[in-house]
Amino acid sequence: LDPKFIRNFSIVAHIDHGKSTLADQLLLQSGAITQREFREQLLDDMDLERERGITIKARAVAINYELDGQSYELNLIDTPGHVDFHYEVSRSLAACEGAILLVDATQGVQAQTVANAYLAIAGDLAIVPVLNKIDMQAARPDEIREEIMATLGIDPDDVLAISAKTGLGVPDVFRAIIDRVPSPSGSPTAPLRALIFDSKFDDYQGVIIYVRVVDGVLRVGQKVRLMAGGTEHEVIGLGRFRPHSVACDELGVGQVGYVHANIKKLADVNIGDTLTESPRGAQVALPGYQEPVPVVFCGLFPATHNQFEDLRTALQKLALNDSSFSFEPETSDALGFGFRCGFLGMLHMEIVQQRLERESNLALVQTAPNVTYEILDKRGETTHVSNPTRIPDAGDIEEFREPVAKVSFILPSDSIGAIMQLCEDRRGTYLKTEYMTPTRAILTYELPLAEMIYDLYDKLKSATRGYGTMDYELIGYRASDLCRLDILVAGSKVDALSIVVHRAHADRRGRKLVRKLRAEIDRHQFEVAIQAAIGTRVVARETISALRKNVTAKCYGGDISRKRKLLEKQKEGKKRMKQIGNVEISQEAFLSVLDDG
Ligand code: GDP
Ligand code: MG
Repeated sequence: LDPKFIRNFSIVAHIDHGKSTLADQLLLQSGAITQREFREQLLDDMDLERERGITIKARAVAINYELDGQSYELNLIDTPGHVDFHYEVSRSLAACEGAILLVDATQGVQAQTVANAYLAIAGDLAIVPVLNKIDMQAARPDEIREEIMATLGIDPDDVLAISAKTGLGVPDVFRAIIDRVPSPSGSPTAPLRALIFDSKFDDYQGVIIYVRVVDGVLRVGQKVRLMAGGTEHEVIGLGRFRPHSVACDELGVGQVGYVHANIKKLADVNIGDTLTESPRGAQVALPGYQEPVPVVFCGLFPATHNQFEDLRTALQKLALNDSSFSFEPETSDALGFGFRCGFLGMLHMEIVQQRLERESNLALVQTAPNVTYEILDKRGETTHVSNPTRIPDAGDIEEFREPVAKVSFILPSDSIGAIMQLCEDRRGTYLKTEYMTPTRAILTYELPLAEMIYDLYDKLKSATRGYGTMDYELIGYRASDLCRLDILVAGSKVDALSIVVHRAHADRRGRKLVRKLRAEIDRHQFEVAIQAAIGTRVVARETISALRKNVTAKCYGGDISRKRKLLEKQKEGKKRMKQIGNVEISQEAFLSVLDDG
């Protein structure tokens, strides 16, 4: 196929602005799916995905479309994962020449609209701006065109208006893609270079990779090499999603599809790596991706001791499907062997933990999340520490620095005051307010990342009745008056419970923590002291008094089976318990350090 007739594009939007619906509508209008399939997907867009056992939407769908008597191949590369994850979006964009920027005509420009538009602009993509949901009574197309103009400098005349739901105006979208998005420009005769933009582990076939061919041709039976990974494989099968998977013999310049190459080792595949042919390989790999930088860290430990290797395997499997989280072995006095994991944000952390527990059937103990700190020590050396236990003692620290983000909120004008207060309470620095229209504004603040990760988003939502959105980028490290707060249970430090706090909040945090822990730790046969300390200075203390009666004493003397049941139940409950010295601490106790409140 002549690349002249290929267009690769992606759809970017703020969440719920209609990305999936438009993708379905494009499939419907090109004849790839039936009206019935369209309706079913509307009800549950995971339907097809479950049926195929593959996240179709997250990959690339090849659509054939005829315009003015010419047939075109359009590859819709959807953005996998949550739209909040810039990294995931930018990864998809790297495989495209254009992007549809979708804006809900009832909601207007939102934080992720702006963030994603900038990603597309930075990637040099042609942007097709589209207003969606114009079938709705509440649509305000003229006003929203003005917002798009004010925030992104896009000419209102270039903005299409459609209803992804009814299909109104969608033929114009096809035409705009063909007219405005450039065709791929690789060389068909050069050695193969294909960009790996995603991958997945299939229990039967091993690793499946998703590629976009930039130069050359990818064929079944071909010997291929992963340029960064260095391993060689034979292509067993190729195919594309239309949207059902359809096998094919080759993929040429600009084409997008999946590759089954009998890759067994998870670690061999790196997202962003280049697939080339062997022996005639390309010399220079494709630019690939900027490594995503995890910003939130926590420890993950198996709740039962012998599951360390299972956890490692589960993490490796997941890493293949989501290369944006990091993990390395960590040992804790309190929790034993586990991993310190890095995530792109709190939502990401939650998703990864859930996937691990669900997909690999592991019970996990998670420590409180924290950011990475930069420490300048007394010897003049700078290190980055993402584990609070590793923070040196205060006496050895010359300067304690924390990551700071530039945060932009898009808000109804009447909630600016409330959000400013929220930011001030969190050590924020005001930068500016810009009005998109008289009723909607962009508020910009600098905030310590640590103050954002817990519940800023929830607070924003409740303060703006759901109308506020936010986006942020890290701008660097800044010196701050921080310290490590340790928790001691029965006199011994529980390394997994150490946190970093601002000194002004240390006493309050310490008191709160020990109070919470006191409520979470069961009574023992002996008295248990819980203390919070900065260095050797104890800032808070609570005592759990000793238990008087044995639990089993509650049973009737002779009822053996009942007694056994109770013991079994206790054992069950202990699955998520950890032994600290001779004190037992539950998973809930570890998590109670989490919500700052
Ligand atoms: P996504 O999060 O961007 O993928 O958004 P979805 O495609 O899931 O759409 C979010 C919601 O908006 C769904 O309930 C859709 O049915 C609805 N929706 C999408 N496009 C339209 C449209 O053109 N008109 C109307 N009335 N609703 C729409
Ligand atoms: Mg969607």
